[in-house]
Amino acid sequence: MNRQQIEHFFATLKAANPRPETELQFCSLFELLAAVLLSAQATDLSVNKASRRLFALAPTPARMLALGLCGIEQEIRTIGLFRTKARHLLQTCAILVEQHQGRVPRSREALEALPGVGRKTANVVLNVAFGEPTMAVDTHIFRVANRTGLAPGKTVLAVEQALLKRIPPAYRVDAHHWLILHGRYVCQARQPRCAVCAVSACCDFQPKPPAR
Ligand code: SF4
Repeated sequence: MNRQQIEHFFATLKAANPRPETELQFCSLFELLAAVLLSAQATDLSVNKASRRLFALAPTPARMLALGLCGIEQEIRTIGLFRTKARHLLQTCAILVEQHQGRVPRSREALEALPGVGRKTANVVLNVAFGEPTMAVDTHIFRVANRTGLAPGKTVLAVEQALLKRIPPAYRVDAHHWLILHGRYVCQARQPRCAVCAVSACCDFQPKPPAR
């Protein structure tokens, strides 16, 4: 995809959805961090279902600590890897209370020091909470970037860096959401919906001919 095509790609996605948002539900920075931590290898839908109950009981790190490991596990048991996630969430809450006055830190370094928070989660928090032009490459973004020719790369980090380099500055803050939503609903893993895709004119993908 050349520069002109990339401009067209994002202008088209922006025209269709000027203010793209995460589909995770949250009412505070802490709930955002917790929801993203819970969402690893799980659908946003499954996280929202469980987090509604969890956040009603424990909307702050201190209240989450009071709920305790068993209490958290009980509320999130419908989410994959719930035992590990409950442990990480509890450890993260302890650090937030002890080292950050119960607040979510704004620096990448401090975020990535929290248990269960890797580069991707930090990127989401920095982008959604603080409006930074980060690129949290998940399975959808990785696929769309490679398949379309937007920012091909063999690793998640390579794709992240290529996207940040190739996406025009005007689109960088929202690009992460446009790409996730595009991958989730149009450029789907098994069968991209090219016939109804608004950006097909600037996409490099060559569909395979049907098997005989
Ligand atoms: S044309 Fe097909 S492969 Fe290209 S972005 Fe659209 S859905 Fe994906």
